[in-house]
Amino acid sequence: MSKTLPSNSLLSISTQIQNDIKIIKKSRKTKNKTLSDTTVSTTYHETPNVYNSLTTKPTNKRTRLDSLTPNKLKQKKKKEILYDDDDDEIEEISSEKKSIEKIEIDRCAICLDDCTEPKQLDKCSHIFCRTCIDHYFEAIKPQCPCCFTIYGEIRGNQPVNGTMTIDTSKHRLPGFEHDSRGTIRITYYFPHGIQDESHPNPGKPYQGTTRQAFLPDNRDGRHILELLQRAFELRQIFTIGQSRTTGYDNVITWNDIHHKTNIHGGVENFGYPDKTYLNRVKQELAAKGIK
Ligand SMILES: [Zn+2]
Ligand SMILES: [Zn+2]
Repeated sequence: MSKTLPSNSLLSISTQIQNDIKIIKKSRKTKNKTLSDTTVSTTYHETPNVYNSLTTKPTNKRTRLDSLTPNKLKQKKKKEILYDDDDDEIEEISSEKKSIEKIEIDRCAICLDDCTEPKQLDKCSHIFCRTCIDHYFEAIKPQCPCCFTIYGEIRGNQPVNGTMTIDTSKHRLPGFEHDSRGTIRITYYFPHGIQDESHPNPGKPYQGTTRQAFLPDNRDGRHILELLQRAFELRQIFTIGQSRTTGYDNVITWNDIHHKTNIHGGVENFGYPDKTYLNRVKQELAAKGIK
């Protein structure tokens, strides 16, 4: 790799440098009084490295090199190679550097190993093994495990045999007296059933339920209704678990998409008025990939 100079040429260089120092020292001694400060400093500037490096004897050079840490040695080596005429070696360094960067980028966050057959997600650019991310999307959810960007629609485990029916009335909800035609009423119905593999207690029965929810009958309310219908198809509105209100297990519960189950009573009673509800429920739907 590095070219070693013939020992005699090293000797001649060091002799020459030593001579230079002698001259400098001599000139400082003899011309000390007569020389102006500027001249002295100029002399120093011209040969600072030579002067410093040769305060230690040339024979000590080897031991100093040995005491260098591997990193320092590496840097030294790289420098030497860079000054070399051989172009191949320069390329070797840059490709080495690239491969280090590549390893950092191409580590799969699912198996925590190097990516085999890397697959880059198109929206967020995160990279995983093809088999890892395909399995994750299929078996868990179509969402980047690093940044939670949603790919496609996420399916829930809401019981399959439910219904969602809609009717309207002329009665206007509190807070929407002036900007709605009335109220949209949603009725969800689920009969009793048996939990499947996607539920907390497969094989155990769960209780059926009927729930009602209300939206203002205006443009915003109609838009949210469409999103809720999509969420229902994707089995996202309900899940099976423990009821937050009764504490009973194995019941159908809401699944983080809040509904207004009362017309009146405000926020604390899950009713209207609630100025921010429509925006909140849109965000909750978007969090499940529905928008
Ligand atoms: Zn992987
Ligand atoms: Zn991502």
